[in-house]
Amino acid sequence: MIISKIETIRVGQFPDLIFVQVHTDTGLIGLGETWYGASTVESAIHDHFGPLLIGRDPAEIERHWQTMFRLSDHAGYGGAEMRAISAIDVALWDIKGQALQMPIFEILGGGTRHRIKVYNTLGVYGDITDGYDVWTDPVGVAQRLLDQGITGMKMSPTDFIARESDGQILFNDDLEWALRPLREIRDKLGMEIEVANDAHAKWNLPNALKIVREMEPLRPMWHEELISPLNEKAHVRLQAATTTPIAAAERLMTRYQHRRFIESAAARISMPDLTWTGGISEVKKIAILASAHQMPIAPHDCVGPVNMLACAHIAMATPNVMIMEYNRAMHLGWYRDFIEPDFVIEDGYLMAPTEPGLGTHLKKSVKDRPDVTIRTSNERHEPWLMSPNRYTYPPPELQEEFINSTERRKAGSEAVYYD
Ligand SMILES: [Mg+2]
Repeated sequence: MIISKIETIRVGQFPDLIFVQVHTDTGLIGLGETWYGASTVESAIHDHFGPLLIGRDPAEIERHWQTMFRLSDHAGYGGAEMRAISAIDVALWDIKGQALQMPIFEILGGGTRHRIKVYNTLGVYGDITDGYDVWTDPVGVAQRLLDQGITGMKMSPTDFIARESDGQILFNDDLEWALRPLREIRDKLGMEIEVANDAHAKWNLPNALKIVREMEPLRPMWHEELISPLNEKAHVRLQAATTTPIAAAERLMTRYQHRRFIESAAARISMPDLTWTGGISEVKKIAILASAHQMPIAPHDCVGPVNMLACAHIAMATPNVMIMEYNRAMHLGWYRDFIEPDFVIEDGYLMAPTEPGLGTHLKKSVKDRPDVTIRTSNERHEPWLMSPNRYTYPPPELQEEFINSTERRKAGSEAVYYD
């Protein structure tokens, strides 16, 4: 089997969302996805990684990941390149699962469980307005989730009050106002529902320290990105100031950035975003690294629908997954416009996918949408492999002589780079 075509699909309605479909000569199609800067990711896929993979065996996932990463690493890695690699990686796992007629988690080591608990991140989409309602009827929102079997939720109570000073000054009465919904939930429902606090990296360290101290009696499930995870030492200080676990972080890219937070105990929960940090291949490694430090992972969501399925496979096959993020508003609001079959949430749990591969595919109708942009690569080219190192290559005739030498390394092997 070889990769015959790589296709990206994005839609005007969600300018941050991009799907990638990896086509094979057998007709199997793998689906991946990422979120943010979709047109930049599209360029990364078609200008760099896609043409590299055309003609290659899709089964060699680890090899492809490593090759793509080394090219990306040359420019500091991260950003659109890592998101492109993540989406392609998921699509390759999807192909492998379909080819072997097994759900991906079975290939990752098999089920350590067959469902994973979810918490609901409060969102707003269409008729579902959890994110607004929590300010006017916090107990009602919490109770409705409990009625569905969902025993955890995530809100961002301090995001709004950070706006005016860009997180640089925090007034006591502003904080008191922001924490009112959570106080009300604790007053009426006690600890019946877990509540995580996500601040989207909006605060400086002194204000983050103030927030963790003030919230301590409210017993949040964790604090997530009170400060940006740019400096693990600042996080070590934050974690030392509270008994509440610090979670870090959706912004960390690959095992190499997660390692610093895991090893320095800058956080107690690891929170990789699979569609940004390197796909299924990389989150599996981050989870193993965390497990060596007796640390759970709680995969990040709040992006597109494919992420939920990809994380479901990680969650089933990986013992130290704690809980999975879920966004009810996005799921019920628009995910089903793009994928079928849908993933299953039952009684507060995300259920193990049962179909081979990822367990879903892109609906045919997506490519017929009037707001769709589809771009395709089906030719191999590798001109960008001209790294600066090649300036010290021998002249072409000497290269030729070296390559054609019959006396040299008869067993032979392909170079690490595809050239
Ligand atoms: Mg977050």
